Amino acid sequence: MIPDIAWVVRKRYHVRRRLLHMSLILFIVAVMPTASVLLAITLALLRQEDFQMYMIDSSLNFFFMFALPGVLVLIFHAKLVRWLVPFPKAICPRCSYALRNLVESRCPECGTQLPLELIDLPDTD
Ligand SMILES: [Zn+2]
Repeated sequence: MIPDIAWVVRKRYHVRRRLLHMSLILFIVAVMPTASVLLAITLALLRQEDFQMYMIDSSLNFFFMFALPGVLVLIFHAKLVRWLVPFPKAICPRCSYALRNLVESRCPECGTQLPLELIDLPDTD
């Protein structure tokens, strides 16, 4: 079955939302232990006590373990969505006509208006 354009657009919208929510959750997971360690360090400094360096190291490891994937998902979410939910290439989603050597963004068989991502229009200039 060839998915129609509206289905692909809807699916991409939902996948984009899920990716952005996943990125937010990764940030929250990354920030929570870091914030608690910073609070512990601040309290130790205020009380003029020594704090443990290993707390900072493990906190930073935890931060980068979760924050880095979160940043990558946030930066590349648009490309990820296009990769996860691709448009069916070179085939009309309504009538399965082979879309090769088109001169306009319309299916010559059924007249469906096609998104530019679906076809390779020749350069006019
Ligand atoms: Zn068509």
